[in-house]
Order: sequence, then C-alpha cells, then structure tokens
Amino acid sequence: MAEPESPLRLRLDGAALAHNWHALDRMSGAAACGAAVKANGYGLGARDVVARLKTAGCRDFFVATWAEAAEVADLCEGRSLTVFHGVRREDMAIATAGAARPCLNSAEQVMRWREAAGGMCDVMVDTGMNRLGLSVEQVGEGLLDGLRIDTLMSHLACADEPDNPLNDAQHAALASLAGQTGAARMSLSNSAGIALGREYHMDLTRPGISLYGGVQVDSLVPHIRQVAFPEAQVIQRRRVGPGETVGYGGTFRAEKATELAILHLGYADGYLRGFSGQGGASYGGAHCPVVGRVSMDLIAVSVDAAPEVQEGDWLTIDYDLPAASAQSGLSQYELLTTLGRRYQRSWNE
Ligand SMILES: *Cc1c(COP(=O)(O)O)cnc(C)c1O
Repeated sequence: MAEPESPLRLRLDGAALAHNWHALDRMSGAAACGAAVKANGYGLGARDVVARLKTAGCRDFFVATWAEAAEVADLCEGRSLTVFHGVRREDMAIATAGAARPCLNSAEQVMRWREAAGGMCDVMVDTGMNRLGLSVEQVGEGLLDGLRIDTLMSHLACADEPDNPLNDAQHAALASLAGQTGAARMSLSNSAGIALGREYHMDLTRPGISLYGGVQVDSLVPHIRQVAFPEAQVIQRRRVGPGETVGYGGTFRAEKATELAILHLGYADGYLRGFSGQGGASYGGAHCPVVGRVSMDLIAVSVDAAPEVQEGDWLTIDYDLPAASAQSGLSQYELLTTLGRRYQRSWNE
C-alpha cells in the first residue's frame, strides 16, 4: 500500500529551534547549554531535534529513560547523553555498555553503580523538590566518594516564579556542595532557571520547554520563537441555521446562520477537550474559532470570517504555547508532549 497522506500535519520550524537554543546558550553566559530531549523531544521527534541541535552546537543531551537513550545514542556519539532516571536493576546491562550515563538518584542506585564499577555518571541532589535525588546530607557523609562524576545536578521546583524563595534556597543547597565531590561540573537550571540570573547557570544549563517554544517567564518572551505549528485539513464544509446545535452535547447553539468547517483534529491527537469553545485556527489572516466540543478525531470551527474555505483546504491551529495554554487550561508541556502519532511531522529546514 502506498504511504497514506495524513489529514493532519505538524509543521516544525528548524530555524526557530536553532534560534531558541542559541538564545538560551547566550543567556547561559559562560555555562554550557544542553538540551532536554525526553518524551520524544517534547513530542516533536527526538531524533530530528537531536540532529538539529547538534548542528547548532549543543553537546549535552538529557533523556528520562534508557529506551529514550537507545533511540538517540548513535546521534550522540562523541557528545554527552544522560538518563535522568538513573539505573534500576533492569537497566544495568544497557547502562554499563556506555552509550549514555545514568544520573544516579538514590543510595540504592549509587550502590548498584559502584558494585558494577559502572564508570562515569551524573548525580542528582534533591534540594527541596522532594522528587528524585540524594539529600545534601548523604553527599556530605561521603556517599559519593570514589565515584567518577561528570555532573552534579539539582532541579528547581519553582523556577517559573522568580520571586519564590525556594529558588535561592535550592541554589544555596547545591552550591554548598561545590568542591565536596569529584564532579567535573555542576548544573541547576531548566529553561526558566536560566532567566533567574548568572549564579543559577553554574557550569551547564538543561533547558527543555523553551527550546520548543514554551515561555514560562516574561523575561524569555522576546527571545523564544514558536517551533510547532499544527495544521488540519477541512473534511467537510457546512452551514448551520439559527437555533441549530453543533457537536456532542449540543454545547454550541448558532444564533444566526453560521459557516462551519469540520477539521480532522481531535483529542486523540492531543487537542484535548479544554479547547472546546475556546481554541481557534486561522486561514489567511482570518480567525476561525472552535465551536462546540472537541471530539476524538474532529473539531468544528466557524469560518464566517473566511467563507471561501473549501473541503481539502488546510487551517493552521492557534498553538502559540502561552496563549494556547491560557485557552485550554493545559500546561505548555502538556500541549507539546501530547501531540499525537497521527501528525505527519515535517521540518522546514
Ligand atoms: C525536564 C527536565 C529539564 C528541562 O526542564 P524545562 O522546564 O522543560 O526546561 C531539566 N532538568 C530535569 C531534571 C528535567 O527533568
């Protein structure tokens, strides 16, 4: 069978991705700027993202699991690739093969790695998020003695709230470990952390969301460009008369005759029901609001502003991440990582 043409495209702007990395690299000052490419490169396609960021100059990549590491390991040869979730017993064979480093998170993981004479690793220190990581005290007690550590890192819980005192407390806790281990580098900041200022940069930053167009703090807005542009095709045009309703539950009732386009896009594609009656699309310069409830595979948009739209035409879905997040109630992270498998992803360069 010939390759079917998808009625749903994800247009990806490679220049914007590279631009965002360069901007974050510049803002990271003397620190190296890495890239979190977990969750399939935040939904965009991990291999494509890694290849492009390598070309841009990125040398440090981060994934969550060993399966994600395996997917990009060949591209990361000669660069650095870290698995955030460390090593379970089940991971030891692949982890000691050396294509990526584990970021050790617990005393159990440290023990396991030490017993296997596992080689270079990273270590996560929990400084207040109470998620993954050793405590500052455990490190102070010498738990890491003798390990070969590339990066000693911690993760900020509230970096998107610049005035939250937890930021300073977390920074101080990690900074107190400087020189206490043999770690070659220290790292604290995700995307929003980079905007907190120079002392947060340490030796290496680890942005994810802002590479892909997400902005959690106002100071990043002027520097970050949208990367992902969903486009959906019109499967049917119709006109509904006054008083008629649209979609499941009949939640939209037309007050006047309304021109509709039915698009191939729904919650199975990650366009979740928070966009019901809230989202929008554009055709030329015309704004086409979503009317009624989002279905699994379909939405209806009003094309009163663009009545020339026909079956087979393509509309660009409004997906500027801060705006789409406000519309839908989804986080910018959810908007990207739920982008479904039915999108045909294509990079413009
Ligand atoms: C996901 C992740 C990042 C990237 O965070 P963003 O907020 O997407 O920039 C950095 N460090 C760790 C440990 C992470 O889990």
